[in-house]
Amino acid sequence: MLTGITGQDGSYLAEQLLKRDYIVHGLVRRTSSTQRVRLAPLFHDSEVYDKRLFLHYADLDDTTTIRRILLKTEPDELYHLAGQSHVGASFEIPETTCQFTGMGTLKLLEIVRDLAKKPRFLHISSSEIFGRPDDVPQNEETAMRPVTPYGVAKSFATNMVRLYRDSFGLFACNAICYNHESERRGESFVTRKITKAVASISLGLQDKLKLGSLDGLRDWGYAPEYTEAMWRMLQQPEPDDYVLATGVANSIRDFLAAAFGAVDLDWQNYVEQDPRYMRPSEVTQLVGDAAKAKAKLGWTATTTLQELARRMVQSDREQLSQANPTRF
Ligand code: GDP
Repeated sequence: MLTGITGQDGSYLAEQLLKRDYIVHGLVRRTSSTQRVRLAPLFHDSEVYDKRLFLHYADLDDTTTIRRILLKTEPDELYHLAGQSHVGASFEIPETTCQFTGMGTLKLLEIVRDLAKKPRFLHISSSEIFGRPDDVPQNEETAMRPVTPYGVAKSFATNMVRLYRDSFGLFACNAICYNHESERRGESFVTRKITKAVASISLGLQDKLKLGSLDGLRDWGYAPEYTEAMWRMLQQPEPDDYVLATGVANSIRDFLAAAFGAVDLDWQNYVEQDPRYMRPSEVTQLVGDAAKAKAKLGWTATTTLQELARRMVQSDREQLSQANPTRF
């Protein structure tokens, strides 16, 4: 069972689980649009949809419905990936962020606590819990000092997962994920915003890209590798928390250079700064130490920033060309 199955990580994890012969259930929000772009290939596969992949309507705060679905489906593993995950947006909508990211996790833990057959539980936590940390790089023991509403909500949820593991014996794990991107990344995150713009500029459809602060450093990895680690976490003999990261900090300028470099352009000719995209406060030195994941899960992030940017630009160029078949 996955919450957030329509998101970047949910769609990769669903594909990986189906390849491993799982039956996959996903909780989806009821909206008027039934477009679920990231799940489209699975949705249109008649061997998969409604045979090995099932979607159920439930909002994260609808505990009655979620309980009913969990009682009916009796999952062995529950991956909790849903939540308002945009840090910038969390300053605009802090209550919604805390309601879904923080309380949503607690509500799920409460339901699981009462189930006779308790699934193994994975919560996708975030490097944002460390905020402005004392230690660089950070590991599972680093103190949480969140500086964004999203980080505060994730800290609450991460601590609740630990508490339910320690106090109620749940097999509950936190995957403390550093930024992980892909061709399926939401379009408002900086990497995807950049690669979409690079595709558009390289095809002559756009001249400028407006961004906020370029000073941030991020530890950017490739999303499908991170969902693989999440699965491995639930196959361990004991529940635990793991940092998932590349261990390499890159600046936004590095990502710009890699993305524009993929089409032989110089980013400095196209990027403008716009105060609209500046945030009231920023995390600074987030870079993760994934030594424990390597030792216990046999996991390391392998995709480099250059490769990540190249893949994302290539995919955006393909999508744009398909959307404008007469122009290209
Ligand atoms: P997250 O904040 O680490 O979850 O990921 P984002 O991709 O949203 O932002 C990464 C960094 O890019 C942050 O330091 C942002 O302030 C910076 N940034 C600069 N310009 C932009 C922009 O236009 N959009 C977004 N989302 N981030 C930007």
